[in-house]
Amino acid sequence: MIKRLIIAVDGPSGSGKSTIAKLVAKKLGLRYLDTGAIYRAVAFILDESGIEPKDGPDLESELDSISVNLKNTSVIVNGRDVSDKIRNPHISAMASLFSALPAVRQRLLHIQRAQVDSGGIVAEGRDMGTVVFPEAQVKIFLTANEEVRAYRRWLELNRKGIRVERSDILSNIRLRDQNDSSRSISPLIKADDAVLIDTSDLSIEDIVDRILDLIKERVILDDR
Ligand code: C5P
Repeated sequence: MIKRLIIAVDGPSGSGKSTIAKLVAKKLGLRYLDTGAIYRAVAFILDESGIEPKDGPDLESELDSISVNLKNTSVIVNGRDVSDKIRNPHISAMASLFSALPAVRQRLLHIQRAQVDSGGIVAEGRDMGTVVFPEAQVKIFLTANEEVRAYRRWLELNRKGIRVERSDILSNIRLRDQNDSSRSISPLIKADDAVLIDTSDLSIEDIVDRILDLIKERVILDDR
């Protein structure tokens, strides 16, 4: 088994990050870390507590007392499992707004780094390769065109019984892309040493195989 291997998978919403990162982690027997779920869970709790998505003492004190635990696919914040409350367009939008605030990113940086165990990790998000795990041995940046990404998100929600208009998802994706890419702190950008893969016309199997090949190449070269 490969030890302390860090694979960073970044990209915008609907680029296929979660599906791909989960499969790569499973194939390699590594832990999978969904950092978007952490941002969503924290945004859910802040929003529920009536905190506005802007810097200030209320936000600071709420963040000081926040505790986040990840158990398998569940996210537990302040002892509450909020996993089934964080996958809806409102929380997507709130996560995007809260995630632009330095205090939120700073607090979550430690939480994310603490998740790496001795077996290694496949971490997916927006700034894995640039900020959270700049030392990752393999960095992947996934993209796909907007229409494809909106369709994928729509399908995902539909399968969970959540009915949303495709046009609303597309506007939500555009707004989030704009927020995530233009924020001054940890914007969504490809790390210089990341490999760019456009997933619009590729099958999941092809993408996973390509990433596994890359990991083999990189890890074997590093071991020499
Ligand atoms: O990946 P997901 O769509 O679940 O992420 C929700 C939101 O959390 C993103 O739109 C982004 O604003 C924020 N996020 C982030 N940095 C990460 C992961 C997610 O800013 N590493």
